[in-house]
Amino acid sequence: MKNILLIATGGTIASRPSSGGLTPQLLAQDILRCVPSLEGLCHVDALQPMNIDSTNMSPDCWLRLAQCVREHYDAYDGFVITHGTDTMAYTASALSYLIQRSAKPIVLTGSQKSIYVQDTDARRNLYDAFLAAQDDALCGVFVVFDGHVICGTRARKTRTKSMNAFSSIDYPDIALLQDGRILHYIHMEKPQTPPAFYDRLNPRVFVLRLIPGMNPAVLRLLLDAFDALVIESFGVGGLPCYEQEDFLCAVAAWSAAGKPIVITTQVPHEGSDLMVYEVGARAASTPGVLEAHTMTVESVVTKLMWILPQAHDLAHIKALFYTPIAHDLLRFETCAHESND
Ligand code: ASP
Repeated sequence: MKNILLIATGGTIASRPSSGGLTPQLLAQDILRCVPSLEGLCHVDALQPMNIDSTNMSPDCWLRLAQCVREHYDAYDGFVITHGTDTMAYTASALSYLIQRSAKPIVLTGSQKSIYVQDTDARRNLYDAFLAAQDDALCGVFVVFDGHVICGTRARKTRTKSMNAFSSIDYPDIALLQDGRILHYIHMEKPQTPPAFYDRLNPRVFVLRLIPGMNPAVLRLLLDAFDALVIESFGVGGLPCYEQEDFLCAVAAWSAAGKPIVITTQVPHEGSDLMVYEVGARAASTPGVLEAHTMTVESVVTKLMWILPQAHDLAHIKALFYTPIAHDLLRFETCAHESND
């Protein structure tokens, strides 16, 4: 039997009603008792580093989770992290950067309904997560939900209430779970070198959603308080050029301060392509302006938090940003930037 470590963090899966609404109250052992069939599947130990609604997750929590995996890495064949669904995609992305080249599966799961409720999705998701965590063909960080095994850097919560709450954005599912079996869609190469663990994140990253007519002064207001900016722009991406090019001037001020701006899109699928329109190409020509392509905003944010403590300048930030990690970027998306350098 494989040895799997459960790291329980809270979320709906661990929640019970309180006078003020659902709150996480069940502990790891309570959750395990609700799925007795796990006993025949693998040997499970459990840790409880926190018990929180995932609205309260933070970069510090991500560092603690990465540290838990690091401390117990050699003793287990795989890891299951139970987590609230609301920020699970951020945690999955963050762990994909904090724990690289893991030959073992690190599987996040949760549920839309608490595990004690009759019609809960928790028991199935939990059992599936343990199945995935003991699968020799899976390596790296995943979200397992409603029968889908989704790459950690590609997961996004796309439904607030339905059981199929998570989607894989612009990337195929890695595998499906049906009737207790795993159907692999994507073959994953086992890393030949030991995993790399990182222990620093810079949380000073801001996401700005552009709206028509936005005052460009907002970019200058953010400059002192943050070290990187992600702009969710329109369509394939671009910045407005009204009011004496104030937007481009504000972007240039970020660049002069050595702080990167990543342009992404508000459109849910197919990513940015800044070179299509003049409004995008002009922004892209400013040093320090990067583009997200098909990366999720969850991945862009957490990758920047991971890059900032280790990068010396904008060129280094750019090189790290366009280095594909855990399938966050596709090969053709990074090639364009390599040929420009
Ligand atoms: N608010 C909950 C959380 O993210 C929602 C859930 O788990 O589904 O912790």
